Amino acid sequence: MSDAPERNGDAASSEALQEKILTEYPRLGKDDVFRFSCHPGISCFNCCCSDVNIFLSPYDVLRLRQRLGLGSKEFLDRHTLVPIQKDMKTPVVLLKMNDDARKTCPFVRESGCSVYSDRPWPCRMYPLGLAARKDTPDGWRGEQFWFLLQDAECKGREEARQWTVREWLDDQGIDAFAEWGEAWKELTLHHFFETGGVLSPNRLEMFFTACYDLDRFRRFVFETTLLRRFDVDEDFVEQMRYDDEALLRFAFLWLRFSLFGEPTVRARPDVLEAYRGAVDKRELFGAPDAGACAEGAR
Ligand code: SF4
Ligand code: SF4
Repeated sequence: MSDAPERNGDAASSEALQEKILTEYPRLGKDDVFRFSCHPGISCFNCCCSDVNIFLSPYDVLRLRQRLGLGSKEFLDRHTLVPIQKDMKTPVVLLKMNDDARKTCPFVRESGCSVYSDRPWPCRMYPLGLAARKDTPDGWRGEQFWFLLQDAECKGREEARQWTVREWLDDQGIDAFAEWGEAWKELTLHHFFETGGVLSPNRLEMFFTACYDLDRFRRFVFETTLLRRFDVDEDFVEQMRYDDEALLRFAFLWLRFSLFGEPTVRARPDVLEAYRGAVDKRELFGAPDAGACAEGAR
């Protein structure tokens, strides 16, 4: 498993690259050194900001739409692609490139990235990627390592400036993104999926809405009976009314409860029993409130 921006390609070439990264790429630790500098004077400036697959996490979307002052639906409609595939397990959201010959990123300008301080995780990590071999029981907490992306077009690696991995991560403000990234993996790489669990289409839509369409999820939280069925700290509830990060934090906790039956939120006993029964069947068709988030907030 690796996290890195990808030039557009098919699924097979993406899998081959992932395997190559795991087996052939030199592994970097936090004190290893690499050379890199990116600046307007460099010959390749801006060339990496087109025709690229950038997978957006819920936190990437939150930061970008706050930066742009857009509602969640408006942002999703305008700036993302949400591919639907038959055997999809978890939501996938991609940054939509412009419909021009070079498929440029909508945020790139002559002077560089116009959303620089809120750019998505893969853009701020570049030229580093992060990988982990899925050889531990939970699939991602095993050995993690950084690697240098090998993009021949990028002249930044020929520059003299030296960084340790640690210095680069600090400089790029990775901490908040890394923390949210771990929370996101708790959901998307959950044991439920590894052991054959399948979400119904309604549940998958609920998963997507709670993480990516926060305005709609907020309506679901505050305009349905949800808060009467769970024991949530009153201060936290007030925070969720206005603070998207608090709401996203609740969404992650609530999804771990409602999708996987984890005790991440305190539910009334009858609610808990009903959810447990559904999770034990490994499929969530017909579970209580299936689709409530998707339908109740419309
Ligand atoms: S978000 Fe910024 S850094 Fe990322 S591809 Fe777009 S312009 Fe480039
Ligand atoms: S290709 Fe490398 S050096 Fe050139 S603009 Fe992109 S990141 Fe910077």
